[in-house]
Amino acid sequence: MDKNIPERVSCIVIGGGITGLSTAITWAKNNPSDEKPVLLLEKEPGLGGYVTSFKRKDYLFDTVQLIPDSFAVLKYFGIDIDLKQFEGYYARIFLTDTTTGKVKCIAIPSGVEAFRTFLLQNYPNDEKAINKYFIYAQKMFDELFHLKVEPTFFEILNILFKCPKIITQSSKTFRQFLKRFHFSEPEISEIFDVFAAFSGLPSERVAALLPVSAMTVSLQGSYRPYKGFIEFPHKMKVRLKELGGHILTNTTVEKILIENNRAIGVQCENGKRFYADYVVTTIDPKVGMQKLVGKELLQKQSPSYARKVDTAKMSASAFMINLGLDEEIDLEALGFNCGYNLLTTGKGIFNKLYKTYEKGDRFMSKDEFFIPVICPSLPLGKKNALTMFVYPASVGDWCTLRDNDYAAYTKKKTEIAQHFIGLVEQYMIPGLCKHIQVMDIATPATFVRYSGSPTGSKFDMAPYPTNFGKNRLKMRTPIKNLFQPKFSHGIWPCLQAGIQVVDMIMDRKIMGGNSRYG
Ligand SMILES: Cc1cc2nc3c(=O)[nH]c(=O)nc-3n(C[C@H](O)[C@H](O)[C@H](O)COP(=O)(O)OP(=O)(O)OC[C@H]3O[C@@H](n4cnc5c(N)ncnc54)[C@H](O)[C@@H]3O)c2cc1C
Repeated sequence: MDKNIPERVSCIVIGGGITGLSTAITWAKNNPSDEKPVLLLEKEPGLGGYVTSFKRKDYLFDTVQLIPDSFAVLKYFGIDIDLKQFEGYYARIFLTDTTTGKVKCIAIPSGVEAFRTFLLQNYPNDEKAINKYFIYAQKMFDELFHLKVEPTFFEILNILFKCPKIITQSSKTFRQFLKRFHFSEPEISEIFDVFAAFSGLPSERVAALLPVSAMTVSLQGSYRPYKGFIEFPHKMKVRLKELGGHILTNTTVEKILIENNRAIGVQCENGKRFYADYVVTTIDPKVGMQKLVGKELLQKQSPSYARKVDTAKMSASAFMINLGLDEEIDLEALGFNCGYNLLTTGKGIFNKLYKTYEKGDRFMSKDEFFIPVICPSLPLGKKNALTMFVYPASVGDWCTLRDNDYAAYTKKKTEIAQHFIGLVEQYMIPGLCKHIQVMDIATPATFVRYSGSPTGSKFDMAPYPTNFGKNRLKMRTPIKNLFQPKFSHGIWPCLQAGIQVVDMIMDRKIMGGNSRYG
């Protein structure tokens, strides 16, 4: 172990994913490193958690595919990442009718105004509804800037006055929210459902505010780093070290030490203990609170918080199919130089998939599907590659199978991949299979391993209205000086969460208690 790592620090951060890195950098920026040092503990040899890039032969793949404009936060950290912005069209939806074999491609342009114009041109019967939606959604989005993470009594009054739309819609799902506009064209629903899916839940389940915000920010600008998403943890690590932060990898925290209901440090699996004034856990919130703190202690301290942790629903896991393709295929000519492509049969299929997932079953059909297909290589000028996701998926017996019978694990995941590749070949990219040079398949077991989350959740706690906004699991836990800022629906929210939690610890000195930076 590095002898320079002090046993006593001011703040311990558990987990070196983007939330942990953001927390540690914000701490280090706002506290002198000699008097109030920060220590980041990570179980893996490298940092980044879910955010990584990996090579298979000469092909470069990323787990993460797209982020919205994050420049304000990166500037605050003092980090510069070279990001490619998607221009032209932002996403394409391949709406498929499997009975006739017909596929309609709906190309969504980048930019909120371009998107509104596109909808008006294509669905003139819904002109009134479209205009009403955009005015309402923009106002709702703007209200976000008045929200506070822990509002005081007077701030609650201010929020009631300044955020009427967010408050009115807070208990509604996106589908319920959309009803107020009376869209008549079913295709508009298909398009809006895509933005709901970005949050990991169908329109029928997701809190309305999330797709409204996701739609506004993603259309304003979507990016990916030229050198792969690994740039995020790389540059964040360098910056944290520059600021005097300490990092210890290959170190699994097994317990949060608590004395007189106050967090005083952590114990690691190797028996080593570290002590701190504050502990911030950025791992799976159920594991952090139920295992590292302990169910009994939590229950004794706050039955309501313990219940909230217990009932918080996590988001689903996924399969990720990465394909390295030969140089014969012209992905540019096939229109893949855009942020996101979706092959779907529409008609509420994502909701149907979700219901099946909730029952613990897997839905694989040749007649109904929902398959995001992204090209990570074209925008960055790399060797031809495609990434497909199968979502939602549950962990089921994937971990057991991988650990006990690797050949059966490989066979099963390959069969699943072939099913989805077959559909993409049939309806989206004719002749795809003959171009495949490399195939890499991540299963829910892969995501369990990298995050330490037993559910391999892609997006942390799922943003149902009962899990979201004022109903989310609070960052300030009932254990004094213990915080959990997890509520990550992607890199941008994770970057925000790290700043928010340090702001909370430091009595609003950084962002005045606001719920978003920048
Ligand atoms: C396949 C996939 C695709 C995605 N696509 C996008 C996308 O396109 N855009 C986007 O914005 N977001 C995307 N996301 C979501 C995004 O990656 C996550 O929201 C974000 O990376 C979560 O960061 P985190 O730090 O909160 O958690 P994690 O990344 O899960 O980090 C937690 C860290 O804690 C460590 N840890 C766990 N237990 C312990 C312990 N006991 N002791 C020490 N360390 C521990 C883990 O090893 C890990 O490094 C995607 C996620 C997945 C899985």
